[in-house]
Amino acid sequence: MSYSNQHRCWVEIDLGALERNLGRIRDNLPQGVRYVAVVKADAYGHGVHQTASRLMQANADAFAVANVEEGARLLEIARGWPILVLGPVLPEEENALIQLGLVATVSSCEEAIRFSESAGNLGQTLDVHVKIDTGMGRLGVWHEEATRVFQTIASSENLRLRGIYTHYSDAVESPEFTREQRARFVQAVRAAGLEDRNDLLIHADNSAGTEAFDRNNPFNAVRVGLLQFGVTQYPSSVFHSVSIEPVFRFFTRVGLIKSLPAGTPVSYGRTYVTKERIRTAILTAGYGDGIPTAASNRGEVLIRGQRCPILGRVTMDQTVVDVTKVENLEVGEKAVIIGRSESSEITVSEFSRWTDSIPWEVFCSVTKRVPRLYSTARK
Ligand SMILES: *Cc1c(COP(=O)(O)O)cnc(C)c1O
Repeated sequence: MSYSNQHRCWVEIDLGALERNLGRIRDNLPQGVRYVAVVKADAYGHGVHQTASRLMQANADAFAVANVEEGARLLEIARGWPILVLGPVLPEEENALIQLGLVATVSSCEEAIRFSESAGNLGQTLDVHVKIDTGMGRLGVWHEEATRVFQTIASSENLRLRGIYTHYSDAVESPEFTREQRARFVQAVRAAGLEDRNDLLIHADNSAGTEAFDRNNPFNAVRVGLLQFGVTQYPSSVFHSVSIEPVFRFFTRVGLIKSLPAGTPVSYGRTYVTKERIRTAILTAGYGDGIPTAASNRGEVLIRGQRCPILGRVTMDQTVVDVTKVENLEVGEKAVIIGRSESSEITVSEFSRWTDSIPWEVFCSVTKRVPRLYSTARK
């Protein structure tokens, strides 16, 4: 796949790898566990229509998005699929939520009552999942107070309980706290007498999921985002041995090659000064594309398999790298920001460390200016 003669900066998305990743994650889950594909923020910047279509072909069971607008966009291609809205719904969004048939998250009795009234006014029924706060301190009803929310929903004719979930705050770093969260959740579900309701989706695990699926707990679904997009960084996860393929590659090109004498400052603020005569390449991408200024004097790109350090500040449209080691380099050649070049590789995780960021944020930071190009082959 080569588009390097058409763009200054671009992302290549391998939909075949996405499909295989879903298959492998599934193979590592017990039979019958449902797969909720998380495709919020335009599918982590991968393009929701293209990726969700492929995830459907790969037998995802349901989708999750951040808000009503994202749900509406996904519905353009996913009519009939369950779509869970993970975020809180603003009053102005309620009618659209109900009319579109999206599934709402309920975190309080007040929300349940609001949704029930709006659904009643429209003469419709709204499907909901109750979210339980077990130690994230964000959405969800506090686990010791969940019973009232279940009662409010049960007593409403316009709301139909379809699932229960929680979210872990520290699954990567702290298996102990995650176990505590899991126990609080199971306790809350049992207290409400709902642990045997096979018609409900009961879920907690995201990509960092840990040991959720023994016979003694009620979990029957996972919510996977990052892992399906090819990023693994979870030693404690049940998925740690799954061989996940990269889906996302990020490229730019060499716009100019030049030599600088020793003692020359490079880029705004003169934060880098050459120590000897060097050869530099000016790349045709900058923070306006998704190379954050945090990568200034820290990050690298790959050109012909060689690691080329970023010199000085990343600017909006251009980035300067040291190409002294790269022989016979020509203007127009490809530089890899994230991905492989010969035997070298820069992963999303490595890139995120240079930029004091996290892989999710790296995906979300690639801007609108950057075209996403899809390879569809199954291989
Ligand atoms: C984003 C999100 C997920 C997916 O998390 P990953 O770590 O990307 O797998 C799951 N659940 C909730 C509530 C989320 O907001």
